[in-house]
Amino acid sequence: MRFPLGLTTTLASYIARKKMAGERYVPLVLMLEPLFACNLTCTGCGRIREYEHLKARQLSVEDCLGAARECAAPVVSVCGGEPLIHPHIEHITAELIRMRRYVYLCTNGTLLAQSIDKFTPSSRLLFNVHIDGPAEVHDMIVQRDGAYLSAFKGIQAAAAHGFQVTVNTTIYKQTDMRQIDEVMTALEEIGVKCFMLSPAYSYASVDDRESFMSRDNIAEKFAGIDAMAARHCLADSPVYLDFLKGNRDLRCTAWGNPTRNPAGWRSPCYLIADRHYASYRDLIANTDWEYYGAGRDPRCRDCMVHCGYEPTVALMVNKRKGDLYKMIKWQMSGKVAANK
Ligand code: SF4
Repeated sequence: MRFPLGLTTTLASYIARKKMAGERYVPLVLMLEPLFACNLTCTGCGRIREYEHLKARQLSVEDCLGAARECAAPVVSVCGGEPLIHPHIEHITAELIRMRRYVYLCTNGTLLAQSIDKFTPSSRLLFNVHIDGPAEVHDMIVQRDGAYLSAFKGIQAAAAHGFQVTVNTTIYKQTDMRQIDEVMTALEEIGVKCFMLSPAYSYASVDDRESFMSRDNIAEKFAGIDAMAARHCLADSPVYLDFLKGNRDLRCTAWGNPTRNPAGWRSPCYLIADRHYASYRDLIANTDWEYYGAGRDPRCRDCMVHCGYEPTVALMVNKRKGDLYKMIKWQMSGKVAANK
């Protein structure tokens, strides 16, 4: 079983209910950014640059829970900034779990070991640690010597305390996929269960444009992904991987992963901010969802990030014959332990 059984059944029944109710814009993952501040300055991060003027602003516990009440997505990805810096992150996490949400706490991992005692293991909580390559490469990307080692120790501490740990890796033009394969093997040995790979997207607010890829570059980079997927548990779905390999097209369903942060509800997506709305209802009602995506907004041309396209797969928006079978087979394989 690739994902916890409870998460899979919750998502499946939630999507079925929403579809039966005729809802068009179904949120699956709430991207909750309680703050923009971070202890690192990673090359590929748009947040610390785009919201530089708001880096002191934070969502309160009540703001975070209010966002989860407004948007009923079964999964909440708590990101940022570095969420472990937030003074009430353990309360936010515990309350979201009490609301029966699945929480992916996304962290650079450098503060994980010292923070781990604040949290209680739960089948609804996963730490998702960002690692972009072996130590020398990762440290260069995040611009901090020793960052890989700190994250490595953080993962060890989390696994030793009984937490589920996944790893999120951004793939840049310069990424050596053989090195990523080796890093995965090393991280599996210390308890990492599953890996999510995502091609880097060229944020308007990121300076290093040389690192970002066109769709052709991405297809080249992911050409050998099937061999990697046979060796490791990948959280990327097989349909999404086909998309990355250039073997099929998907349309963007950015509404599936709405983003709430201290500036408001970000429209249209995690990557582009044309404006912010005061409520989730306003975000959904006022964003022109048909305007965005490759072939429409020029900024979307090379975007293939999972937060725009994995909801398309889960919601079976432009499904093909055989997709469902492929998805079930994929979910039933893998190494993530089944949970309640
Ligand atoms: S394709 Fe979708 S997710 Fe990507 S930048 Fe455009 S709106 Fe955002």
